[in-house]
Amino acid sequence: MAAQARRKLIAGNWKMNKTVPEALTLAREVKGMVAGVPAERVEVALAPPFVSLLAVAAELQGTEVKLAAQNCYWEASGAYTGEVSAPMLASAGCAYVIVGHSERRQYFGETDETVNKRARAVVGAGMTPILCVGETLEEREAGRTLEVVGRQVEGGLKGFQAAEVAGFVLAYEPVWAIGTGRTATSAQAQEVHRAIREQLARLYDQATANRVIIQYGGSVKPENAAELLKQPDVDGALVGGASLKAGDFAAIVKAGL
Ligand code: PEP
Repeated sequence: MAAQARRKLIAGNWKMNKTVPEALTLAREVKGMVAGVPAERVEVALAPPFVSLLAVAAELQGTEVKLAAQNCYWEASGAYTGEVSAPMLASAGCAYVIVGHSERRQYFGETDETVNKRARAVVGAGMTPILCVGETLEEREAGRTLEVVGRQVEGGLKGFQAAEVAGFVLAYEPVWAIGTGRTATSAQAQEVHRAIREQLARLYDQATANRVIIQYGGSVKPENAAELLKQPDVDGALVGGASLKAGDFAAIVKAGL
């Protein structure tokens, strides 16, 4: 399958922002602005905080905009106070769940092993993981980017079969570019995306590797989106800060057309 045959996926990670009414307003604005964007070419997903999932799901009903969650626990139910499970997220209407975001790795002790368990739960509940990987500045400066990202990809995908992996979304998010205003150049992004795809071909097979959507994330904004999204192995964007402004997010979506 040629690179162009993959749809692009632009997902807005709202992180810990927006009250329920504010989330509804933002979802309504985005919905209006991306109406008419063909989902088979550029799919749009919104990842509000857990408490707003149901309200946003209702707002998105009848549109092609998908709902995503920002995290989930790996057990389906039980005495895990404060956690939310994958079947719960599926029942709330989520199509995607972000796993292994660097903020979770950094602040909440996430490891490749726990990311893998969460991804397993997401797939088991019939949703698609958006599995985040990325190196720190120190790792990049030490020339360890591909080694670190490769280890995260392998760890996150451990135990999955090729047919399952083909349905994954990976998000390459260099930690030094998240929320810093510092974006990877399109050449830096393409280098890592291509390396990830080559790794997938080695671990599984070329057809599987060709099907996996690999998003870029890290200070994506309207001004740099088109250049990043035209790279052959960049299949979309995971957008943090700029997804909180409907106009900016819609402009990034349209840059993918
Ligand atoms: C993110 O949190 O996934 C992200 C890429 O954030 P930002 O766009 O703000 O850098």
